[in-house]
Amino acid sequence: MKKILSMALAAAMVMSMTVNAAAAEVSTVEAGKLYMATNAAFPPYELVADDGTFEGIDVEIATAIAEKLGLELVVDDMDFTAVVTSVQTGKDDIAMAGLTVTEERKQNIDFSDTYATGIQVIIVTEDSAIATVDDLEGKLIGCQEGTTGYMYCSDDYGEENVVAFPNGANAVQALMTGKVDCVIIDNEPAKAFVAANEGLKILDTTYVVEDYAIGVNKENPELLAAINGVLKEMIEDGSVKAIVDKYINAGTEEETAEETAEETTAEAK
Ligand code: GLN
Repeated sequence: MKKILSMALAAAMVMSMTVNAAAAEVSTVEAGKLYMATNAAFPPYELVADDGTFEGIDVEIATAIAEKLGLELVVDDMDFTAVVTSVQTGKDDIAMAGLTVTEERKQNIDFSDTYATGIQVIIVTEDSAIATVDDLEGKLIGCQEGTTGYMYCSDDYGEENVVAFPNGANAVQALMTGKVDCVIIDNEPAKAFVAANEGLKILDTTYVVEDYAIGVNKENPELLAAINGVLKEMIEDGSVKAIVDKYINAGTEEETAEETAEETTAEAK
């Protein structure tokens, strides 16, 4: 019995040493914590749940990374425009906000390996005359402030034709009330906004395809390396995919179930 106990104790010590070793390798803004800068109005990547807690793909991936590094995740919710600066100035450890890798941002922060793809899509009202990217000329486009969508649109169509809103939901609201002609935003939030509001659709055309990655302070290469190590593991063992599927493909399955139910009802009539 004593022997088993001491073996268990030794095993526990080895385990805690492994955890501490991983944690000891990285320094963070606050010891034992991993601060994540985000804008929790970007479903399904980050959102505030009904009970007031943060959830979403980014939040779950970040939680898993923190755990593997022996740290506790702290979500720091802010305007999207502040996310990169918060990491750059050392207020937060990581930026995770469906954040697209761009050359401009790379001058201010480092990026991890990519863990997801984003596509800029066009949301219009169901009766809209806009059918393709070619119809956008001279139209008023709603975007979210500081995003790649805003940058591309103002470059391509002129700043005077683009209105920046604090978040995607505000831009969609402006579309519903006829203040803008369309909204250009990342595909997954677009799907969430269209599902939540009647009379909208996403055009079957992609504007720009981009990579999402985790932003890290340029002076913390140890943290960047540790994150890349954990990410690689999580991509290889399928845990990133499991998290993505939980939020994205789960919805599709529900839809399919609903459609099946509808078909059944239709047949019955
Ligand atoms: N992917 C876009 C960007 O990085 C939008 C991100 C967001 O609004 N959270 O600019």
